[in-house]
Amino acid sequence: MLQENEYIKCLIIGSGPAGYTAAIYAARADLKPVLYTGIVPGGQLTQTTDVENFPGYPDGVQGTQMMEDFRKQAERFGTDIRFGYITSVEFSNDVHRVVVDGEKTVTAETVIIATGATAKWLGLESEQKYNGFGVSACAVCDGFFFRGQDVAIVGAGDTAAEEATYLAKLANKVHMLVRRDEFRASKAMQHRVLNTPNIEIHYNTEAKEIIGDGQSVTGVLVYHNQTLEERLLPVTGFFVAIGHKPNTELFKGILDMDTNGYLITQPGSTRTNIEGVFACGDVQDHIYRQAVTAAGTGCMAALEAERYLAAKEHAIV
Ligand code: NDP
Repeated sequence: MLQENEYIKCLIIGSGPAGYTAAIYAARADLKPVLYTGIVPGGQLTQTTDVENFPGYPDGVQGTQMMEDFRKQAERFGTDIRFGYITSVEFSNDVHRVVVDGEKTVTAETVIIATGATAKWLGLESEQKYNGFGVSACAVCDGFFFRGQDVAIVGAGDTAAEEATYLAKLANKVHMLVRRDEFRASKAMQHRVLNTPNIEIHYNTEAKEIIGDGQSVTGVLVYHNQTLEERLLPVTGFFVAIGHKPNTELFKGILDMDTNGYLITQPGSTRTNIEGVFACGDVQDHIYRQAVTAAGTGCMAALEAERYLAAKEHAIV
């Protein structure tokens, strides 16, 4: 049974860099934002260790610490941060209703969606054990830690191809594990991989286990999925690039999405197909997927929400 109903000006769903940045801007614009964190407060960055590419931290920062800093800054300006999960939504061009934890209804004049995306993993136990200690799902974030070393990357799509060529500029050697005898990536991306001398492609090859000394990765045990022959590749970094899943289940049939489920926003804007509903961060970005770009679009979403509300008030007067 639904409990109370609450009316607010600005609801933010998600607590990664996009959600908290939207909260900072919305709070400073006096929109009195309410932010629901979701089940992973702080988002994807709380699953990583060092972050060295976010501007403003000259010595780097731990992902969890950075998200704590984001949270404190959003709170300092009065954001009402609540632990909770949105279980259903009902959006129209006039009014937006969401249900929190299946219990409570919140009606919001504007909604900022910042639910992010989740990296897909292989599902190996050793992968989770060394996540952040040699295992990563983001070459742009973590490639720098493996300068001059040998690394492996799994995947054969555009992301894997792009990340393998990125890693090849930093690492001594990149072993690319492709589970079929061909790539899924576009011809142009394949061409780049095939023309990078320090990328070795292992077709029909899958990771069996990531090997480590308890502290960090020392190798990956791979097998040929036709001959079942096993080999140990001595690497210190293991990158998983088998795709991401945007967290958009809630919005299916309500908001426009592309074929991979990413929310579609109007070019140069965070506006969705429904007035007063904005989307920012990885939930609408499958290209850059960086904390700093997520924060940038979070700022845009709050500014657009503020302008939308101002225009609405002006129209009423
Ligand atoms: P994709 O779904 O396109 O590719 C995933 C890759 O991972 C496939 O090669 C798949 O293998 C492989 N894979 C999946 N599961 C496993 C597993 N368990 N073990 C081993 N390999 C596995 O995801 P991407 O992230 O690469 O791309 C997503 C979308 O974003 C695509 O539309 C892509 O074109 C686009 N994109 C575009 C870019 C650009 O234009 N610059 C850059 C990055 C992405 P298999 O082929 O055998 O199924």
